[in-house]
Amino acid sequence: MLTRTEGIVLRTLKYGEADLIATYLTSDRGIIKAFAKSPRKTKSRFGSSLEPLTHAKISLWGKEQASLPKITQSDIINSFHHIRDDFQDFVSVSKLIEIVISLIPESIPNKRLFSFLLNILHTIGSSEQGSKDALHLITRIRLLAAIGYAPRLKGCGKCGRESLNFYPDAGTTLCGKCAGIPAGEGKPFIRIHDNTIRFYSHSIEWPVHISNRLKPRREILTELSALLDRHLTYLLSKKLMSSEFLAGTGR
Ligand SMILES: [Zn+2]
Repeated sequence: MLTRTEGIVLRTLKYGEADLIATYLTSDRGIIKAFAKSPRKTKSRFGSSLEPLTHAKISLWGKEQASLPKITQSDIINSFHHIRDDFQDFVSVSKLIEIVISLIPESIPNKRLFSFLLNILHTIGSSEQGSKDALHLITRIRLLAAIGYAPRLKGCGKCGRESLNFYPDAGTTLCGKCAGIPAGEGKPFIRIHDNTIRFYSHSIEWPVHISNRLKPRREILTELSALLDRHLTYLLSKKLMSSEFLAGTGR
């Protein structure tokens, strides 16, 4: 059976000599894997349409529930090549994709997530250099919020009392009483500032396309970025490969 859908290429894996397995986030079937025959033989349009981040119209051949349908046609709607060509943009978006692949099960339709990722790619692609650090952080926060994994930073997650101590293993700030031990005695937590929490709330509440108007101070970005990395490390039970990749390049 031939089906048509729209998808964003999340990643590709080489298969055999010249074939590929592409993982897509599709508009109507959620995350799926599909097989591409010999796209690497020539520099064809078909091959280009399988580059990571490409938004394409695809035709798939296979039984309805086939685990690996074959891609028979793929037409580029937007290649997002300028994101792939920019090192920082690409690393940042790679983190988002790793979060999606790690936390979202396959074949569960999620139109909202599809539109959300597409919106983020357009926003990053059309943003000027300079505002990018904040934007990259905001996109990570927004994605986590959209899929229900955002850390809670507004008051103690158990009793609501004020607290500035974030506990990565709980995914929330906790007051001393609810953390079970006096703050500072062994259990790892991160102390955060009021301004960081304020920026965090704004970054979730403001529409993505105007979020590049948020201009946080460098300390806020550093603090929140470290907190998110700890949160994700715990969440994914491993450091994000792209974080390690970035650390390895000395950036
Ligand atoms: Zn509490």
